[in-house]
Parts: sequence; structure tokens; C-alpha cells
Amino acid sequence: MDPEVTITKTLIGPDAIAKRVEQLGRQISEDYKGESLYICCILKGAFIFTADLIRHIECPLRVDFIRLASYGSGTNTSGKVKITKDVELPFEDCHVLIVEDIVDTGITLKFLVDRLKLHKPKSVRICTMLDKRSRREIEVPVDYVGFTIEDGFVIGYGLDYAEHYRQLPGICVMEAP
Ligand code: 5GP
Repeated sequence: MDPEVTITKTLIGPDAIAKRVEQLGRQISEDYKGESLYICCILKGAFIFTADLIRHIECPLRVDFIRLASYGSGTNTSGKVKITKDVELPFEDCHVLIVEDIVDTGITLKFLVDRLKLHKPKSVRICTMLDKRSRREIEVPVDYVGFTIEDGFVIGYGLDYAEHYRQLPGICVMEAP
């Protein structure tokens, strides 16, 4: 059973998401024309976004997955990041594009960018579906943003609450009980 939550509104519907993802894919294809990409999808939240985005990217690419945990089962960050599943493919000499679901404090991405840079890739850029810019604690350069949103806990389109609700087709604002 899904935990009971109150979904206050659908913030971004499936059609708006699809349109924006296509635009992002087109922009990324232009920016990396003639290059190939190493896509680093941050599990689990970015899996749906990544699956949709890569189908709009025209340059050659490989996809890899890393799982970083910074949230428990609630809605507040622990402030600590740990790798619970590491990448598997080599990415030295590659253009790395990190695909994230949402940037909040920036702690998760700062940790990942610093770690990936140790392997000296050609470049590292970030593409996030959502950006809660007003919540940023650590500056991290975000190159591609789907939507900038206000503070508030969102679920759907891959984003969970206690591992539930990832399958909602739109991005919804919720209140925990
Ligand atoms: P940061 O390290 O930037 O504070 O947190 C990033 C991670 O926190 C995201 O990858 C995501 O897992 C989680 N997160 C932040 N805000 C939300 C939110 O509104 N909803 C959900 N489901 N996860 C969030």
C-alpha cells in the first residue's frame, strides 16, 4: 500500500514535461555536436527523465547509473551523501553529462561532480529536471534545467515519497501526513 499523503496540486503535467524534455534533448544535441557523451544517471529519481531525455539526444552516447543516497524515508535531507551503487563504465577522456531529478541544497551534486572530476574526464556538465534554486546551500553549476520550482516537496515522474509515487505521470506537490 502507498503511504497516505495529500497531493495538493499537479505542478507540471505530462505534456509540459514531454515538451521541455524534447527541448533539452535538442539543445544538448546541438551543444555536443560531433562529440559523444557519457550519461551518468543518478538513481533512482532520474531514471524516467533519463529514459525520456536520451531519446531526444542525437549524438552517440553511453548510459551509466550511480545511486547516491542523501534522503531517508522522509522529506528532509540528512546533509550526508553516500554511494550505494557506483558507476560501471570507464569515463576518462569523456564528456560527462550528469542527469539528476532535482537540485535542492546542491550537496549531492557537489559531491558527485568532485568525485567524477578525480577521473579527469574531458568535461562534466549537469542536466536536472527540476531546480529548487532558492534552497541552494552549495553553489554548483547547473547547465541544463527543465523547470525552476519553489520550495515544497514534489513527487512523480521518477521522484518518490518513501519509495512510492514514482509512477505519477506529472510532477505533484505533496504534504506528508
Ligand atoms: P540536494 O543534495 O541537492 O539537497 O538533494 C538532492 C536530492 O534530494 C535529489 O536527488 C532528491 O533525491 C532529493 N530531493 C530534494 N528535493 C526533493 C523533493 O522535493 N522531492 C523528492 N522526492 N526528492 C527530493
